[in-house]
Amino acid sequence: MVVVATGALPAPTGLGLGRSSSSRERRRTRRSSGQIRAVLQWNRRPELAGSRPRVVVVTSGKGGVGKTTVTANLGMCLARLDFSVVAIDADVGLRNLDLLLGLENRVNYTAMEVLNGECRLDQALVRDKRWTNLELLCINKPRYKMPMGFGGKALTWLVDALKQRPDGCPDFILIDCPAGIDAGFITAITPANEAVLVTTPDITSLRDADRVTGLLECDDIKDIKMIVNRVRSDMIKGEDMMSVLDVQEMLGLPLLGVVPEDSEVIKSTNRGYPLVLKKPPTLAGLALEQAAWRLVEKDSMKAVLIEETRPKRGFLPFMGG
Ligand code: ADP
Ligand code: MG
Repeated sequence: MVVVATGALPAPTGLGLGRSSSSRERRRTRRSSGQIRAVLQWNRRPELAGSRPRVVVVTSGKGGVGKTTVTANLGMCLARLDFSVVAIDADVGLRNLDLLLGLENRVNYTAMEVLNGECRLDQALVRDKRWTNLELLCINKPRYKMPMGFGGKALTWLVDALKQRPDGCPDFILIDCPAGIDAGFITAITPANEAVLVTTPDITSLRDADRVTGLLECDDIKDIKMIVNRVRSDMIKGEDMMSVLDVQEMLGLPLLGVVPEDSEVIKSTNRGYPLVLKKPPTLAGLALEQAAWRLVEKDSMKAVLIEETRPKRGFLPFMGG
């Protein structure tokens, strides 16, 4: 048995998390009806649940699990869905959200200059040229440490300033959190009302995610959803990787999305071109797009079990007997 995940939106077909025991014909029919449903769903705009701005911190505990990838792609998807988004790179020491969004050459000012009164807030916001309702705010110049005196209060001041901008309060403020649970993490979660917890299906990442969940709850962030990233169906089938259902049982959090391991993610990272913009879309890109929809509507998905095809038995198995 393997685990796939479904939700209000159809799971991307061939997400690679499981194989049904139906015939090829039935699979094809089901796939095409899934695609039609997807088209119908995606022809409408998701309705924003909750009040504006939704301040969402993308966190994990462990480093390298995909926080920045998720922030860049969710931000791009939300902007494409016509929401105004400000993505804040709060990973001060290892800033790279600008790279993933391909905006690194356009960052002239950062939040530090705003706080020091050296520039206006709108000068530090870098507008994406592809989707102009997506803006990036970096805290500091690359390779700088967390600036002295910069903490939760300063980030909350910046978020409040974004809310009061003359050209309108953004719909979403996404905060890309640094790894770990020290000062940088505390700073990043301070202004947030909700969290997206990114985890990979391995025991170290899960332990850190569990610890982070506890800390978020202590900080009164109760709306926490998780994205399980870098899922490999072949390893789940071989029982070498935890299934999504196992992860959900361990963390007990609602599921925002399941993103498969995909080499296209690495290519898109290196090109500064978020995967969700890729045409034709990839499975990981679709999964991230679906996660963005669920985030808007405060929806979640379910991990379900699907019977795997049993190996054929017969007199001449190699002839399909
Ligand atoms: P974090 O911000 O948590 O440190 P990143 O988003 O920087 O993590 O991702 C770390 C690395 O993992 C990057 O090289 C990224 O391209 C890669 N990565 C993230 N998600 C996936 C995925 N689903 N498939 C393949 N590679 C991924
Ligand atoms: Mg990062």
